[in-house]
Amino acid sequence: MFTVNENYLKLPGSYLFSTVGKKEREYRAANPDKKVIKLSIGDVTQPIAPAIIEAMHKAVDEMGTAEGFHGYAPDLGYEFLRSAIAKSDYKARGVDIDIDEIFVSDGAKSDSANIQEILGPDNIIAVGDPVYPVYVDSNAMAGRTGEYDSASGMWNKVIYMPCLEENGFAPKLPEKTPDVIYLCFPNNPTGATITKDELQKWVDYANEKKALIIYDAAYEAYISEENVAHTIYECDGAKTCAIELKSFSKNAGFTGVRLGYTVVPKELKSGDVALNPLWARRHGTKYNGAPYIIQRAGEAVYSEAGKAELKKQVAYYMNNAKVIKEGLASAGYSVSGGVNAPYIWLKTLNGMTSWEFFDYLLNEVSVVGTPGSGFGPSGEGYFRLTAFGTYENTVEAIDRLKKLI
Ligand SMILES: *Cc1c(COP(=O)(O)O)cnc(C)c1O
Repeated sequence: MFTVNENYLKLPGSYLFSTVGKKEREYRAANPDKKVIKLSIGDVTQPIAPAIIEAMHKAVDEMGTAEGFHGYAPDLGYEFLRSAIAKSDYKARGVDIDIDEIFVSDGAKSDSANIQEILGPDNIIAVGDPVYPVYVDSNAMAGRTGEYDSASGMWNKVIYMPCLEENGFAPKLPEKTPDVIYLCFPNNPTGATITKDELQKWVDYANEKKALIIYDAAYEAYISEENVAHTIYECDGAKTCAIELKSFSKNAGFTGVRLGYTVVPKELKSGDVALNPLWARRHGTKYNGAPYIIQRAGEAVYSEAGKAELKKQVAYYMNNAKVIKEGLASAGYSVSGGVNAPYIWLKTLNGMTSWEFFDYLLNEVSVVGTPGSGFGPSGEGYFRLTAFGTYENTVEAIDRLKKLI
């Protein structure tokens, strides 16, 4: 008889966004006359920029010609894209990343889940709390997280680093030493980030403890403040302790197009063993590459026209973030985030739990957000709103929320 991976059976209940979606659908069905505004899931809404669409069209036409046809892509991704990444995302920031340290993929979600496959089964992971759920769940599937305790909402082998109001929603260095540390700045869900000096402390800590940092920089394009690192490799010594994940989803609207990349520096080693060839082996064995058309679209992200158009898109979302943050703050809500990230982290009203507040907003003003507790126990009593809606809907949603206070 075949058996299943029993780690899957340990995973707690339904996925956060499916519960949010279900409640929203039920509300819509019961209230067909109400206009529901979604400030919940982290998906973009602006159409893909013209320079990118043009590059995709061109690549589509090429594929229909004998000379322009492309089959399987090279294992690490096309050189034209990896060169553009090395130049614009690294060299331009004073960081040297070799093109064979860059692995093109179909996105950061899958990379953040897959990367743990090249790590030993006994590594202890540390995560921020609240956290992007993929880091924990993918390690749970691999049997690395111990047992789940539904009362506390925690796995007994995971080191949770609470991100609380008193530390600006950033984690402190953990007391127990982890082997692998997941960091995401600017952060989803809190919208918080840390300065480059603070990030340097994490890099120094990881090098000292021989720990690995998995650095998720999916929201790098939203950084507006000067003293925030755009890549972890701006910190001294990061190449010996950090893997960086990047995505084209949030900066270029590729959520439905699918493109990302992961940087595994050649200097990064566990003892004598370099991680770069292990990830290359994994990539080559299990992945046949992002489509040519999409990699050409990715290249256009770095063109002059593409950069200018995307700057406007990011500014559009960040203006929404400002509307949310300033609107709610002026009404008396306690809010953070929204300066270097398209997320606003808000305290619920009157001591409500996150889910009570979710139901309250849905039923009173037909606004959908995301309960903070869905991202981890320290998210309880908080709520996430995203700036990815349209400007008009964002303004209307905030006007409705102001009436509740
Ligand atoms: C949206 C997001 C990603 C990007 O995922 P893709 O698979 O590239 O779309 C990665 N990490 C975090 C924290 C995110 O919020």
